[in-house]
Amino acid sequence: MWNRELETISRKDLEALQTKKLKTAMEAAAKTTYYSGVFRENGIDPAKITTLDHLKDLPFATKNDLRLSYPDGMVAVPRSEIVRMHASSGTTGKSTVIFYTMNDINAWADLLARSMVATGTTRDDVFQNMMGYGLFTGGLGLHYGAERLGCMVIPSASGNSIRQIQLMQDFGTTVIHITPSYALHLVEEIRNRGIDPRGLKVKKAYLGAEPYSEATRDKIQDQWDMEAYNSYGLSELNGPGVAFDCAHRCGMHLWEDCYYMEVINPETGERLPEGEEGELVLTHLNREAMPMLRYRTRDLTRVIPEPCKCGRTHRRIERIKGRTDDMFIIGGVNVFPSQIETVLMDVPEVGNNYQIVLEREGGLDRIHIKVELRSEMFQGDLRDLDRLKKRIVEQLRSLIVVTARIELLEPGSLPPSTGKAVRVVDNRKI
Ligand code: AMP
Ligand code: ZN
Repeated sequence: MWNRELETISRKDLEALQTKKLKTAMEAAAKTTYYSGVFRENGIDPAKITTLDHLKDLPFATKNDLRLSYPDGMVAVPRSEIVRMHASSGTTGKSTVIFYTMNDINAWADLLARSMVATGTTRDDVFQNMMGYGLFTGGLGLHYGAERLGCMVIPSASGNSIRQIQLMQDFGTTVIHITPSYALHLVEEIRNRGIDPRGLKVKKAYLGAEPYSEATRDKIQDQWDMEAYNSYGLSELNGPGVAFDCAHRCGMHLWEDCYYMEVINPETGERLPEGEEGELVLTHLNREAMPMLRYRTRDLTRVIPEPCKCGRTHRRIERIKGRTDDMFIIGGVNVFPSQIETVLMDVPEVGNNYQIVLEREGGLDRIHIKVELRSEMFQGDLRDLDRLKKRIVEQLRSLIVVTARIELLEPGSLPPSTGKAVRVVDNRKI
């Protein structure tokens, strides 16, 4: 373990620690224009915080609040204390900006080193970081964590598959950090060059930055012959390192000494009982430059209340099902892209890329799914393709109750993804 005392702390001590930290976090927040206004309007005095329950009186913060307080309405320290900024990749709408002091950067790197150790990575590993460097937090976030741990870091950044493959081969990369969609694309590029991906030294991948299904994880693990670990974070709360799979890969430990979590009903804002699925709301418990209290992540998950076999006491969250703003409604039915992905990736003939296109024809919503198949599928009988199409339509219908139009494509037909994939194209607004 990276920090045995903190990672296996008793729930009682953890709560006491969280309460103490919450008070400090709220005092820091009071120094910002945004929170001082919120505290005043809601009659909140940070000096009087004695339990975590006091947080309930505080209204949620949203991405829009961040945008409205741009550029420094949420900053709690003088400009001279700030050593770095990042920006969200703009999963939805305009990006938002996050600032860090040196202590914030160090605490963040520590959480990532802790996360990597939880997966069994050591200083002997060669870590190739295939996430975007720059304003996006995915690159530099893991980079600093891996260096802290002592790995040899290859900051290859995203894209340029030929160079990625060469680096993996020449330097014996053992751990990669990559989006699931790029992992699926890259493995095809590897095979297209006549290289057996299973023969590479890569034994672990950290997959994050976008929602994906368990079936996709299985597929990636199988094609690369490695273990894939789920990594969750968002720039508003630092970036990656909020929650991470441990060696058991059965839900991500959310680092509760740094983040206080709540799960709410996204429609009513009510806090849900432990274990129920809803929207994750996070409070950062020790950030200096940019305190963040009760931030609505828009991400849907549930807490897994049972203790983990690894002995860490920080509770786990289930893989993110999607974002509340990802969901689309087709013919009156709520659909998450992850549900469609689960069906597709469970079909053995399906390849590594797909796209969901929403259209309106004659006033009716239609869903059109473009699916790449494995190349062998185009060598046999065309009637097989027809049967396969029918099977996919049926499986989708039983799950999402709508009839989709399926288009089967050869590998490489759809635009490849090297970063966050664009899975849904909604043409209905035009
Ligand atoms: P950004 O702030 O641009 O890094 O984007 C953060 C968002 O990416 C999160 O709020 C999630 O919606 C998504 N995300 C990050 N990691 C994961 C993950 N492991 N699984 C699903 N979604 C993720
Ligand atoms: Zn565990």
